[in-house]
Amino acid sequence: MRVHAVRAIEEGEEITSAYTDVIKSSIFRQADLEPYDMVCTCAACSKGNESDIARVMIQFYDLARDLNPENKSLEVALRELELLEMEGLECIKMYRDVLEVVTDLYIEEEHKENAVYYGKKLYKAQCAIGQGDRYSKYRDLDGVL
Ligand SMILES: [Zn+2]
Repeated sequence: MRVHAVRAIEEGEEITSAYTDVIKSSIFRQADLEPYDMVCTCAACSKGNESDIARVMIQFYDLARDLNPENKSLEVALRELELLEMEGLECIKMYRDVLEVVTDLYIEEEHKENAVYYGKKLYKAQCAIGQGDRYSKYRDLDGVL
């Protein structure tokens, strides 16, 4: 098994593997784990309500963007990205989607420093799932913009 990190890992930090859909609220995640006779004690499950509310907000932002794809607000996307990172959800597709929206919006705004910063994060996240080649343009934004 090969594991790629999409964010920095602190020394001694536990690396976990999901047995359920990590965007679900804790009560549903715990129910999914019952057949395995497991009780999850990860940071999100330990936070309970606080984490559940953040995950509902993440899903709401994504739904709002899906309902109106023309309305890609940088402010909203950055808030969603912050929530995804706070919840440690860099592993899900939504994280990569939001990173792409943020990077593209900074490119449109010709904000080079932020476009390069988020472009590198996007490239790294795509590399982690073996899609780096398709996103190589985001790796070198420094030389393009
Ligand atoms: Zn958990």
